Amino acid sequence: MQSLILDRRALLRLAGAAALSAQTPMALAQPAQLTGGARKRVVILGAGMAGLAAGLDLVQAGHEVIILEGQMRPGGRVYTLRAPFSDGLHAEAGAGRIPSTHHLTLSYVERYKLTLDPFLPQSGAGVFLWRGARQVTPFGGAPDVAKLNVDFSSADRAVGFDGLAHKYFGDLLAQIQRLPQDAWPLPALAPLGQISMADYLRAKDATPDVIAALCTGFEGDSALDFVHDAVSHAAPMLWKIRGGNDLLPHAMADELNGVIHYGARVTRIAQDDRGVSITYAGAAGSHTVRADRAICTLPYTVLRDIEVAPPWSPAKGYAIRNLYMGPVARVYVQTDTRFWEADGRNGFATVDQPMEIWSPTLKEPGRRGILMSYIYEDLAADYSHQSEDEQVRRSLALFEQIHPGLRDRVEGATTWSWLNHPWSKGAYTVIRPQDYKTVLPHVATVEGRVHFAGEHTSPWMGWIQGALHSGLRAAREAGGG
Ligand SMILES: Cc1cc2nc3c(=O)[nH]c(=O)nc-3n(C[C@H](O)[C@H](O)[C@H](O)COP(=O)(O)OP(=O)(O)OC[C@H]3O[C@@H](n4cnc5c(N)ncnc54)[C@H](O)[C@@H]3O)c2cc1C
Repeated sequence: MQSLILDRRALLRLAGAAALSAQTPMALAQPAQLTGGARKRVVILGAGMAGLAAGLDLVQAGHEVIILEGQMRPGGRVYTLRAPFSDGLHAEAGAGRIPSTHHLTLSYVERYKLTLDPFLPQSGAGVFLWRGARQVTPFGGAPDVAKLNVDFSSADRAVGFDGLAHKYFGDLLAQIQRLPQDAWPLPALAPLGQISMADYLRAKDATPDVIAALCTGFEGDSALDFVHDAVSHAAPMLWKIRGGNDLLPHAMADELNGVIHYGARVTRIAQDDRGVSITYAGAAGSHTVRADRAICTLPYTVLRDIEVAPPWSPAKGYAIRNLYMGPVARVYVQTDTRFWEADGRNGFATVDQPMEIWSPTLKEPGRRGILMSYIYEDLAADYSHQSEDEQVRRSLALFEQIHPGLRDRVEGATTWSWLNHPWSKGAYTVIRPQDYKTVLPHVATVEGRVHFAGEHTSPWMGWIQGALHSGLRAAREAGGG
């Protein structure tokens, strides 16, 4: 889920009221049934959203399921931080927003009767910080380009920050919106899969500042991947789950009571013509489970270090070794009050760096506040190599520029790095131009009795919806034939 520096209003404008031509393929969301009465034993590697969706589907169809999860909790990259915050406040380490167009994700939210709140402010002013110049932009307003030191052509000055997305890739986005949502990787648009977003924009005479405004951090992403991803960002509404997004995987895991083994780190995947053998290390030593089929939801960054016998096919092995996951780091600062709200600021900000600034406590009960920097790509790698103190110092300096006076209100801070997280070693899949033809076609393919799920194998890479969709798809593959 590549993030976009440009203001969300720009994407909304660009999305217009366009209804998506094709709805999420909800057929998969219909309950599975045993085909031909063949009850199978299926072992699922990982209890993230993909593993949980696959497990629920297979159990419902009457199969025997074992889920091996290395951590002591479900949810993987849907993870809500509750500590070290005070007063029951929380902030997301991973997935933050659920687009209103992600009907499959929303069907699970509905299934567990969770409540949704708007992710973005519905009022209040944002802060725009660009090359040291700060502007407070009223809700629904745009930064004044004339007062900013930007290298924009006169035509780009005329459309302003909010008009850039529409000008530079509005047509392509509309074209993708008209295609079925699960048509990824969109073979009809393959040439755009093989050029970078920066090259795509340069070919349209975008200046470096325009490129920075549109895709800073993601300049090297495949243009097709970037704009395809923007379709989800351009949903009419973005939601979050009241109480924390991890309530969803926890509800799913509760339903799978007895099926999930926590603290089970998979170390070896072996198969022969009769079944699969999965070896895992637990607190009490090493164990091997035997099953008819396996569904592997492990991120490829992790899978590439796991022993496998026999080896993957050459194309699959290449995909597993080379699929790229972008780094993400986050820095959270708790303040004694949400002092920025006193003069109508909502806490969110747009800056000229590869990061977003969120205010996770917006509309939460209580007086204390949390501000969060969501840092991606090279800058995130840079943060991830620093000590927590250095990261906090760096983000505090930026927050102080955004909300002057913040230093005096800080009570505590914490950090999170997905690059350093041993269970994913990265945040989410980003398709680079060189991977479109060599890696992408082999990410979801079956290897003998091992099926593959996870956001990376889906048409919604980097989204909860992709993980859920892939889990259902793999469950039907493994439980079916
Ligand atoms: C920073 C960030 C922001 C995001 N923002 C959004 C957003 O706004 N909206 C959205 O919809 N999505 C977002 N996503 C994406 C979403 O979180 C993921 O697409 C989804 O959670 C991936 O689920 P998964 O099951 O494919 O993988 P994972 O969640 O990674 O699950 C894999 C599981 O395997 C386990 N595992 C790993 N190695 C082993 C091993 N050796 N043995 C056993 N178990 C192992 C892991 O612990 C994990 O539980 C974001 C993700 C990140 C990181």
